[in-house]
Amino acid sequence: VELIVNPSAIGSPTRTACFVNTHSFNLAQKNSSLTGGINDSDYVFADGTGVRIAAQCFGFRLLDNVNGTDLLPPLCERTIEHGQSIYLLGAAPGVAKLAASELSASFPGLKIAGTHHGFFEQRNTHQVIEKINQAKPDILLVALGSPVQELWIQANKKFLDVNIAIAVGGLFDFYSGRIPRAPLWLRRMGLEWVWRLTQEPKRMFRRYVIGNPVFLFRCFFKH
Ligand code: UDP
Repeated sequence: VELIVNPSAIGSPTRTACFVNTHSFNLAQKNSSLTGGINDSDYVFADGTGVRIAAQCFGFRLLDNVNGTDLLPPLCERTIEHGQSIYLLGAAPGVAKLAASELSASFPGLKIAGTHHGFFEQRNTHQVIEKINQAKPDILLVALGSPVQELWIQANKKFLDVNIAIAVGGLFDFYSGRIPRAPLWLRRMGLEWVWRLTQEPKRMFRRYVIGNPVFLFRCFFKH
């Protein structure tokens, strides 16, 4: 959170951040542009149990899981203290707006500079960026799904007039209440993915039931 809000970085070129989980690693394995986008980020946060296991395989001990959903509340608190503002870009029409009003209600004093849905055509990207820049946010949350969001940030950071752009995946779906989040006890056990599988079984089957063993296989046998 301190890295993100860092007031001394204001005025310098737009910084970028993303979260990597087993799904992003699996996608990046087949998509070198995504690997480039992740490696190009100023900050890469380790999200989930799979990444912790992988880190152990390579001799690193990660202190904790850093995912967007847990990070957002303390981030909102710090942005209020620093008088910074947030822009929400992404998710289905109406979802970012709903997430913004939920966040404003939970964090009085939070400055939401604006919102925009994530289903715009590529040829309209510059218009969307202009809208974002006019709103003058400090922090831009980009929820377009992987790999689009990481590539979008990498391609457009030079046009963005924000302190930091962060790829956040399905974050607005959770904060708008569109998709309920796993209960705390399940999250503490590192089993949030099981919950997501029950919520969206069709879409998540490939990602978790096939993706997790594939990822672990690579960690154990290919490093
Ligand atoms: N999304 C979007 N534009 C698109 C495709 C997806 O804004 O063209 C949004 C989608 O509505 C969802 C987010 O991107 O809110 C990606 O969610 P996902 O569950 O895939 O993210 P993750 O599981 O990686 O957090």
